[in-house]
Order: sequence, then C-alpha cells, then structure tokens
Amino acid sequence: MAPMSDECVFCGILSGSLPSVRIAEDDQTYAFMDINPATDGHLLVIPKRHSRDLLDIPADDLTAVTLAAQRIAGFVVSELGADGVNLLNCCGADAWQTVFHFHLHVIPRYIDTSKDRLVLPWQPGIRGEMNTIASLGERLAAACAGMD
Ligand code: 5GP
Ligand code: ZN
Repeated sequence: MAPMSDECVFCGILSGSLPSVRIAEDDQTYAFMDINPATDGHLLVIPKRHSRDLLDIPADDLTAVTLAAQRIAGFVVSELGADGVNLLNCCGADAWQTVFHFHLHVIPRYIDTSKDRLVLPWQPGIRGEMNTIASLGERLAAACAGMD
C-alpha cells in the first residue's frame, strides 16, 4: 500500500490531474461517476490512499469506503429512484479488475431496462456438486480457524 501512484488513473483523479464528476468526499474516501456506466448513475468509491485491491487495502480504509458506499446507495434510491443497488468489487485481472486502485462500484438497478444494461454474470440456479462444495468449505473453514 502506497500513498499515491504516478501511473494510477484514480490517483490522477484524486490529485486533480485527471477530471472526474465528483459526488462526495471525506478525509479517507472520494466518490465519483464511472465514465462507462453499466446503469444510469453508476459510480465508484475509492480510498484516498492508494491500495491495489481488496487484499491490499488496510481495514480502516476498507471500512470508510464501505460506509461511504452505503450512504451514497441510499441517495441512489432516494434521489435517482433506483429500484435496487449492487455493490461490486473486482479483485485481480482474472476477476475483471482493470484499474488497480481499490474501488467499490455502486450500481443503481432499475426495472426500466432503458436505464439498466447490467445482466447477471453467472447462471443462477445451477446446483453445485455437494462433495465439492463441502470439501472447499472445509478447506476455507480450516484456513479461517488457523487465523484465530
Ligand atoms: P474495474 O474493472 O477495475 O472493476 O473497474 C474500473 C472502472 O473504472 C470501470 O467501470 C471504468 O469504467 C472506470 N474508469 C476507468 N477509467 C476511468 C476514468 O478515467 N474516469 C472514470 N470516471 N472512470 C474510469
Ligand atoms: Zn491509485
């Protein structure tokens, strides 16, 4: 984790060297409109300190970004009339991360598809193989227990 990165687009936005449509900010976070919105009102919340991703961000910045996203999600509903909200984080290039400065997507959702171009990224309702689910769960539980 570094305070700022010269090559990072979002650090450029924070420093003012790149433009953004600002929504809100506080000591630790900055919220602005996404330039390629998946739905009307799609925005991003970032920490002011540069962190690469979910695995890199310090707990206090993660808390601050999450709380800011929750607050703005309320305005997405009350001001934009969204019917729901998705929060999304992509961690790693193979998980669709393209900007390597931690961010939460706040994505307003609408019944009206003229405002909402988002589709589910997986096929819902396809039942997993129970032995695989259980053995992967056991491995994760053991890893979590090892950290206690
Ligand atoms: P990721 O794919 O890393 O989860 O999301 C990166 C997001 O940043 C994308 O939704 C993309 O549209 C947005 N983005 C990339 N560059 C810029 C920019 O220069 N300005 C703004 N406002 N958003 C950007
Ligand atoms: Zn950055």
